[in-house]
Amino acid sequence: MSGQNPPMRVIAIDGPAGSGKSTVARALAKRLSLKYLDTGAMYRAVAFAVLRAGGDPGDAEFTSATARLVDLDIGLDRVMVDGVDATVEIRGPEVSRAVSAVAANSEVRKELVSRQREWAVRQGGGVLEGRDIGTVVFPDAELKVYLTADPEERARRRAREMTDLDYEQVAADIARRDALDTTRAADPLVEAADATVVNTTDLDIDEVVATITRLLDGEASS
Ligand code: C5P
Repeated sequence: MSGQNPPMRVIAIDGPAGSGKSTVARALAKRLSLKYLDTGAMYRAVAFAVLRAGGDPGDAEFTSATARLVDLDIGLDRVMVDGVDATVEIRGPEVSRAVSAVAANSEVRKELVSRQREWAVRQGGGVLEGRDIGTVVFPDAELKVYLTADPEERARRRAREMTDLDYEQVAADIARRDALDTTRAADPLVEAADATVVNTTDLDIDEVVATITRLLDGEASS
């Protein structure tokens, strides 16, 4: 990034639900001694705040006003929304159903993208994961990775995490969110032209992190 700020090291990890983004981005941040930001948790946190206020996530004005006003604290293991611990609820079915409408709201995106950029400046860079990091939030990121995996494998991974939901429910939720995320007008999920696509279907976390580390080393020496 240019301007008065010192150069920042930003790594963008994008991809659909269940592609391994969170686990990989966390491990990568640790290895590189960078901070980590889960931007999906921010969209989920806004959805939580809207529902908590009794609002309708489809009400564009109410939802964008909520995004502008809400106090978000997105930690590594804890998400606070207006001082309330929402760590568990933001992963629940109610928020998962509501989050696509929130993420399709262009005013919400404007607000959260600006908070994400501010976060990175405050941290002196970081590993950010989401859907639009390489395309919109940090188009000049040092490295852009687009993680993907077969839909069945993604659903299996999510079903293992969400012990209260069965495979069919998780697969349906992922298919619905994939469709909404890739077809929405505002910043749809798409691979950046200069992103490296890594298919994680048959790879474990260590193999994915090693692949990304090689890409970073390759960039450093070129
Ligand atoms: O990553 P996660 O699945 O928790 O994200 C929840 C939702 O937030 C996604 O389905 C997507 O609609 C939205 N999102 C987004 N842009 C991001 C991160 C997440 O639109 N950068």
